[in-house]
Amino acid sequence: MAPTSPRLHVVLGDITLERTDAIVNAANETLLGGGGVDGAIHRAAGPELLAHCRTLGGCPTGQAKVTPGFSLAARWVIHTVGPIWQGGDRGEAELLASCYRSSLAAADSVGARRVAFPAISTGVYRYPLAAATDIAVSTVCTTPTSVTEVRFVCFDEATRAQYVARLG
Ligand code: ADP
Repeated sequence: MAPTSPRLHVVLGDITLERTDAIVNAANETLLGGGGVDGAIHRAAGPELLAHCRTLGGCPTGQAKVTPGFSLAARWVIHTVGPIWQGGDRGEAELLASCYRSSLAAADSVGARRVAFPAISTGVYRYPLAAATDIAVSTVCTTPTSVTEVRFVCFDEATRAQYVARLG
């Protein structure tokens, strides 16, 4: 039987506090930590996360790798690397969609059913928020997965408003 698409929720808050099976990290290709949500996740997970990430050899843009959550409430962290916005003609949309697909596949690979996503690429990587939100929602709705619940965790009100508008 084909899986149904996940239930979607939009919440305002800090993704490091999510009590869910997996949280997604908007990482960079080194997987060695950075600013924004990446820095927050490493601080909350503790130094074991960085030690584990050092063994992974990085991650190409658009792909995802999964680690334990260590000190986080979430059991897993799915590290995905969003595209840096360069005007829109460098394959950014396909790479961003690939982040969401790859993250759901990574969740399936460890049996995570409830997954929380940040707004990948919309911070330091400057992806326009409305376009990124469209990709996030449409990709999660159309990707075959055993994930049953997706929470879009928005760090500010402008982001939350975009998701709410997109989900109607
Ligand atoms: P990127 O480099 O992919 O743009 P950023 O971390 O700079 O990643 O930003 C991605 C999104 O994550 C932005 O909307 C930012 O406001 C948000 N963000 C930053 N910290 C957190 C957090 N602790 N929880 C959830 N979202 C966060």
